[in-house]
Amino acid sequence: MQIDPQGDVTQLKGVGPSLQNTLAKLGIFRALDILLHLPSRYQDRSTVTPLSQLRPNEEYLVSGAIAGSKVVFGKSRSLEVLVTDADSELRLRFFHFSKFQQRALENANYIQAFGSTAYIGRHLAMAHPEYRTFTDPPPAPKPQLVPVYPTTQGLSQNRLRQLTASVCAQAWPETPGTPFSKLKLLHQPDSLQSIPELRAELALEELAAYYTVMKRRALKRKQQTGIPLPRGPGLGRTLRDSLPFKLTKAQRRVIGETLIDLENETPMLRLVQGDVGSGKTIVAAFAALRAAEQGCQTAIMAPTELLAEQHLQNFQTWLEPMGLRVALLTGQMAAAASREAIRATLDGELDVVIGTHALFQDRVTFSRLALVIIDEQHRFGVHQRMALRFKGLAPHQLVMTATPIPRTLTMALYADMDVSLIDELPPGRQAITTQTIAESNRPKVIERIRQTLKQGQQAYWVCTLIDPSEEIPATAATEAFEDLQRALPEFRIGLLHGRLRGEEKVAIMRAFKNHELDLLVATTVIEVGVDVGNATQMVIENSERLGLAQLHQLRGRVGRGSTASGCFLLFKPGLGDTGKRRLNALRESQDGFFLAERDLEIRGPGDVLGTRQSGEQSFHIADLAEHAHLMPEAISLAEALMGAAPGTDAANRLSGLLDTWAPAQSDHLSA
Ligand code: ADP
Ligand code: MG
Repeated sequence: MQIDPQGDVTQLKGVGPSLQNTLAKLGIFRALDILLHLPSRYQDRSTVTPLSQLRPNEEYLVSGAIAGSKVVFGKSRSLEVLVTDADSELRLRFFHFSKFQQRALENANYIQAFGSTAYIGRHLAMAHPEYRTFTDPPPAPKPQLVPVYPTTQGLSQNRLRQLTASVCAQAWPETPGTPFSKLKLLHQPDSLQSIPELRAELALEELAAYYTVMKRRALKRKQQTGIPLPRGPGLGRTLRDSLPFKLTKAQRRVIGETLIDLENETPMLRLVQGDVGSGKTIVAAFAALRAAEQGCQTAIMAPTELLAEQHLQNFQTWLEPMGLRVALLTGQMAAAASREAIRATLDGELDVVIGTHALFQDRVTFSRLALVIIDEQHRFGVHQRMALRFKGLAPHQLVMTATPIPRTLTMALYADMDVSLIDELPPGRQAITTQTIAESNRPKVIERIRQTLKQGQQAYWVCTLIDPSEEIPATAATEAFEDLQRALPEFRIGLLHGRLRGEEKVAIMRAFKNHELDLLVATTVIEVGVDVGNATQMVIENSERLGLAQLHQLRGRVGRGSTASGCFLLFKPGLGDTGKRRLNALRESQDGFFLAERDLEIRGPGDVLGTRQSGEQSFHIADLAEHAHLMPEAISLAEALMGAAPGTDAANRLSGLLDTWAPAQSDHLSA
């Protein structure tokens, strides 16, 4: 039977309600979404690497004789298998193992194993490899590229591989513009060499679809009628005079551009780009104030609870003295509080409602919504962005982002928007001294932090994981927290990560802001928006695991006050060339746009799969670093197809493209 690409996954053999729920967590709803859930990389299992050539932190297929196996007692009990080949040896380690497995390994003579290497103690080892045992010397391996998928709890890599393989084996309708056969090839490539070209062909189509959605929306917006917000009783001046700082020239210009837009009947759609710390929030406050002057409401969306909470504090400070009512509405609020906020929103008692994506929910209805502000828009992701619609409404939109997108791309990516740039930082900002430091020098870094804290300043200690993991060789926040408590007993240390409840996060962040904590150990949850001027040092562990843009954002948490600040990028030994160049770029520059351009250069088309930056919802396939050069071609393709008469091949191709790459439209905010 032929698959219905748009139909849900339960049409597939073996997919029931429980697997359906798990797949939903990966953003897989339709059959098509399985094809679109692409491997993040491939394991090359075609060649056996001699044991003498192994390096740490790489994946290998190895083969050799079993020279012995024993249970060893270290921190925890583990089974160790010693493998030898012609001239070297390797230890395989199993931290979980059954009696049966142990006996089978003892009885076998040869083993072929696939896994990643790491130092355990002084020896290079492979923890929990996939393996097969043999009585006689094993045959040469069959050439094989095995896809590795991003997955989630409750869905093993193997199960997902099987599911995808069986979906690829089924019949898909081939209509114009639908790329099913190309997508299948990406799941089962013949060679690594064929991948970049395939990806480029698909990326071109995805970018063209994206451009089409945005362009059509821009055209539609021009025909809509919003609520004009002319200048009112002049509260703007009162706000300006009440600020503890003087607005920069760039801020004044961008506020001006925004307020002029708001006077129009045509809904505004303006993007404010500005590096971390350039002071975008206050621009939003002026816009919200203008709406309130006209008796209208503003909704502000932030990507995290922490940021929403911080905006609440700022907007209350700035706007409540002027008689505005500001409130919070997030997913983690207690039911009664959120019911009350929803009621007050509907009754028009609130002027500014700040929230996370709970604000998008249908149950929230505004009485007179005129302005929607989306902060840190890049964190909401391409797909949410394409899907955002306002039922029966045409609010003005102000979109803020610190993602330093290279200028060449801005026009194409934000085809639907007018762009304002805050190209100036507030005066008096101190440069941040950035140092890259091998992990082995951790004690020295701790000493530096001790000095900082002694002087009454504060610091962040950032980790990329919450809990220790066997698969990922990185220091976890919980570990670092205990470690630092031992090393720095005289200071107050807090731990902040995404698994804490909303109120706990807020309480810890408040304590840090009020200097009731000296050091904050945190995951990358603090990446956006966190603003504590007295924090002057940041340590980022395993900085090699983060993208350049993300590191830049994180580092932007320090250097906000008038004291010299510093950032230590700790890295694990065995850092590759690309990794080195990335960390060096950060050391050289603090300019987000410069770094974005460098990122493009460093990553380039050489990376087969690009480097997905964690936390960033991106395109299915297009990678802005890898495919930036395709943008002009994507735009002309889109323009050509959009101009085609209905019923023609070109028009059919366009609808195929949109069906594939653009998500279903959905309604979010209503009034
Ligand atoms: P962004 O959102 O662009 O990263 P914020 O709006 O959070 O930056 O501003 C960063 C910090 O700078 C805040 O503490 C803010 O109060 C402060 N700030 C904003 N504008 C100015 C200014 N013109 N002069 C001094 N400080 C400013
Ligand atoms: Mg901000």
